[in-house]
Amino acid sequence: MQNNHYNLNIMPKIVPIGKESTLTLFPPPEICDLETCQVSVFPVGGAAQQTTSIVGEPLLVHKNGATLQVQYTFSQEQEYVFWVTTDSSTPVGEFRVYALEDELFALRPYKGDLHIHSDRSDGKEPPAYVAGAARRIGLDFMAVTDHRRYTPSLEAIQAYNGVSLDLRIYPGEEVHPPGNPVHIINFGGRFSINDLMRTEDAAYHAAVQVIADNLLHFPPDVDRYTYASCVWCFDKIREGGGLGIFCHPYWFSRHRYDIPEYLTTQLLEHQPFDALELIGGYHPFEVESNMLQVARYHEERARGKIIPIVGVSDAHGCETGELFGWYYTIVFAPSPNLPDLIESVKTLNAVAVEALPDQTPRAHGPFRLVRYAQFLLREVFPHHDALCEEEGKLMLIYSAGDETAAANLRACQGQTTALYSQIWAKS
Ligand SMILES: [Zn+2]
Ligand SMILES: [Zn+2]
Repeated sequence: MQNNHYNLNIMPKIVPIGKESTLTLFPPPEICDLETCQVSVFPVGGAAQQTTSIVGEPLLVHKNGATLQVQYTFSQEQEYVFWVTTDSSTPVGEFRVYALEDELFALRPYKGDLHIHSDRSDGKEPPAYVAGAARRIGLDFMAVTDHRRYTPSLEAIQAYNGVSLDLRIYPGEEVHPPGNPVHIINFGGRFSINDLMRTEDAAYHAAVQVIADNLLHFPPDVDRYTYASCVWCFDKIREGGGLGIFCHPYWFSRHRYDIPEYLTTQLLEHQPFDALELIGGYHPFEVESNMLQVARYHEERARGKIIPIVGVSDAHGCETGELFGWYYTIVFAPSPNLPDLIESVKTLNAVAVEALPDQTPRAHGPFRLVRYAQFLLREVFPHHDALCEEEGKLMLIYSAGDETAAANLRACQGQTTALYSQIWAKS
């Protein structure tokens, strides 16, 4: 779908269905004669009984200063196109609105990256820099998730202690159980799983053995211990209030998938994890891995599996021109607070996004949310991201030691919320 705005704008852009909405259109005067213009509305899904001739529903237009106002009751959850015409049927202005059922209308989209590295493992920049850079590219939440290390994520949080921020920085780590090829993200957990395995090594192995011995329905011919150690990690992550993510199952490492396929199959079958990395941080030459993850996900969904998903950059550097910002998650949640984000991912209120440079972003996940996310990516996030960029640059200045940036950050606080309160209709 092309983005033909003609620089026009409309507020609100996101409305509830089933009740009358008042929409204000902002047409530039040079292309629209306010005395003669007409406004018609088209649901993108078409109307019942629609044939090939598409006629929009004409609306009564009120002139209000330099703006036009129309009233309309949206009947279905979908995108609607408003055309402004003068004397011909060719539109001089086109406006897009998305109508939502109440439960989705009440949520807000939060963009986040749940898997990023800093120089405290094998990334390029310090944790505080990674957080600032994450805001600069339009993220609402993130966690530094270094290999085997939890404290870098705390460093990112502490670096902005007392500073007014709208970016939510959460704890995290990439967990590597010993002798197990599966990589696991502990997103948001209150304690380190890596540290627990290190400090209580004997207890860890004993607990994993108990889990392995009790896998009653596990196929007899495959290794139980590796799977059991995954179960132990995911259980501990949940104990700490975190989200346990099954990472990059189809990552091709040297001469094979890093995770043997029997293990991926058992993990997808029994789902000890909370979310699957549907879109992982792969370079362009590795795109096959993401394709396989998406294909596998759809196959498992068709078998009736319920699979929460995330998209992550797994970036090992914010300024390399690769991965960072290419992949992320949009979570539809009541707030950006950690329990709300985690619960929303678990209840399938999230999509994984691929946003490679110079390409139209692509959302993956449940159809209903993908359709809505594509509207947000086209019509809403560019405005949101411009505000975040300003804040992110200030965070980077602050993290470099210039404390005067804190006052500017304080002045910016709340600006994305204020934008959304204009874009979403008042409920
Ligand atoms: Zn990994
Ligand atoms: Zn990683």
